[in-house]
Amino acid sequence: MSDANLPNPIDLAASAPWLARAREAIAGACAADRLPQALLLQGIPGLGKAALAEWIARYALCDAPSVDACGQCPSCQFYQAGNHPDLLRVGVEEGKKQIAIDDIRDMIGALALSSYRGRRKVAVVQPADALNVNGANALLKTLEEPSGSALLILVAVRPERLPATIASRCQRVKLQAPDEAVARTWLDAHGKAEDWTLPLKLSAGAPLAALALSAVPQVESEMAEVPQMLSRPDADIPAMAERCQKHFPAERFRCLEFWISERIRYGLTSPAPSAPGQPTVSPEVRRRHIQRLYGLLDEVRRARSLLSSNAAVALLFEQVFVSIAREMDALRQASRRA
Ligand SMILES: [Zn+2]
Repeated sequence: MSDANLPNPIDLAASAPWLARAREAIAGACAADRLPQALLLQGIPGLGKAALAEWIARYALCDAPSVDACGQCPSCQFYQAGNHPDLLRVGVEEGKKQIAIDDIRDMIGALALSSYRGRRKVAVVQPADALNVNGANALLKTLEEPSGSALLILVAVRPERLPATIASRCQRVKLQAPDEAVARTWLDAHGKAEDWTLPLKLSAGAPLAALALSAVPQVESEMAEVPQMLSRPDADIPAMAERCQKHFPAERFRCLEFWISERIRYGLTSPAPSAPGQPTVSPEVRRRHIQRLYGLLDEVRRARSLLSSNAAVALLFEQVFVSIAREMDALRQASRRA
């Protein structure tokens, strides 16, 4: 994201128009002294959930918040210095896939102590969908026996992976992608792209994801070549899958979805039997091909939905690639027979 002009998380969360409703709800609850004990921030990747969690933490700790945290009080200064004694953050350690149970236990222990500044304590857990059973159980105990002044902020892309017992004790903050016009205006102010249509499409409308994607345009062009590469008899599928898993796997799957959708659309709307790049086939063969493309589309979507689980990402790509290669091959055989 190096050449994108991205503000720091606090400024981002304070200004992103699609987070305004969430900010106002938090500010209102704070003013009425009705901040819940636990919040669950949820939404697709690229909406700024992590930034919003930081914004809420700073806000809830501030001595004199109004529309935003004051930025001046001792609490805000502690926050700014990066060493706020009443703010805890728990996440996944590098190279690990789950949040360590010891980290959760340490956090719970720290939350049980009284606030250093005599106000409240805030803990941010993210990604909360990376809690394992033990971690979730430990957290549940804390939620069942709340200590009056603690605010727990859970951040999750896939909240359905959290035990219902936890989710039900949290107030949900469901973040949604903004209208396309809002997203485009924001993107124009923060990034450089000729056209945001494809990045927004591949990011399901999430502006931060679209921005990140626009900074690495080679993902699109690389993925556009994948179907061609898969049609070759010497295609090294495991190596391709290995490369794809490393960067932007979700966006790569969306590129494939886009390619398949376009192919379906073309096949359905074009009466010409010999479309560019498409072998000449009979209407019957084409009908069956389109049918299988719908199946492929489902398969790619399923693979993408498994990304945030503990599935092996390279294997997900490999399975999808094998299916695409098989379909391309079937079509080639059919057109040869025609
Ligand atoms: Zn302040």
